[in-house]
Amino acid sequence: MSFKYFEDLWNMWYTELHNGAAGLTLKIKKVLYSGESPLQRIDVMETYEYGKMLVLYGSIMFTERDEFVYHEMISHVPLFVHPRPGRVLVIGGGDGGTVREVLKHGEVDAVTMVEIDPQVVEVSKKYFPTMSVGFSDPRLNLLFKDGAEFVKEDRENYDVILVDSADPVGPADILFREEFFSAAKERLRDGGVFVAQTESPFYHPDIVKNTYSILKKLFKEVHMYLAWIPAYPSALWSFCFCSDSLHPLRDFSEERVGKSGLELKYYNPEVHRAAFALPNFVKKLV
Ligand code: SAM
Repeated sequence: MSFKYFEDLWNMWYTELHNGAAGLTLKIKKVLYSGESPLQRIDVMETYEYGKMLVLYGSIMFTERDEFVYHEMISHVPLFVHPRPGRVLVIGGGDGGTVREVLKHGEVDAVTMVEIDPQVVEVSKKYFPTMSVGFSDPRLNLLFKDGAEFVKEDRENYDVILVDSADPVGPADILFREEFFSAAKERLRDGGVFVAQTESPFYHPDIVKNTYSILKKLFKEVHMYLAWIPAYPSALWSFCFCSDSLHPLRDFSEERVGKSGLELKYYNPEVHRAAFALPNFVKKLV
């Protein structure tokens, strides 16, 4: 059997299964870090196709090639709807991508970020400087706690709350429960906006259905929006925009996007509007 020397003798693959029977596989150049925090396994790998990626408990959190989609969409959709997003709370988000985007908004005076695992932040600082750039911003207050505990104990209120959680497994499971959503809502100022990442409608219909049924009990306005994230299961990813007074399209100010002067790679006013257009099979879930 003839080997194409380097090709055949030196390849290694990472596969993430989405439901035990389908998945994504990436050819790996190098494993840069493998470790375990008290909460989860943490890996950093360099891939041929997607750049470096952070993997927690064997699941892709982000890749350098497509992280901009997720982090722009979880941040700029709510921040261009809320008229004065002075105080922002981020639950999770240990890689720093969400706070990086939030801090691009000049109106944001203060960001509190509550991440349960300090080791994720350390790994991100070391291997992903473009992701963790926001950690040195003086407006950021970074706390290492369980987000569900934090929202119960905290007495501050916020204009925008973003839940950049991992999947509903392990420590993140509580972030998909009614007790967390209800306590988080107590931390929202009048006229505030709450956004959570809500998994894939294609692979996780039950999680989506359950999450939206809870949020619809708590908020007057509950609207799913979608983004295309190729490294995530099925690439069809969802977020939930919640508020008691603001609507993601009626109260969206396109002029503010122009005036912000932000140079973004995915988000723009047309994408903002189109993201809320749902395919029929997804509409049935929410
Ligand atoms: N964008 C990714 C996604 O959609 O899968 C998630 C980004 S970020 C890496 C998810 C973060 O949530 C992780 O750093 C994890 O440690 C953190 N996390 C999990 N459970 C948490 C909890 N209960 N409170 C705060 N942070 C939590």
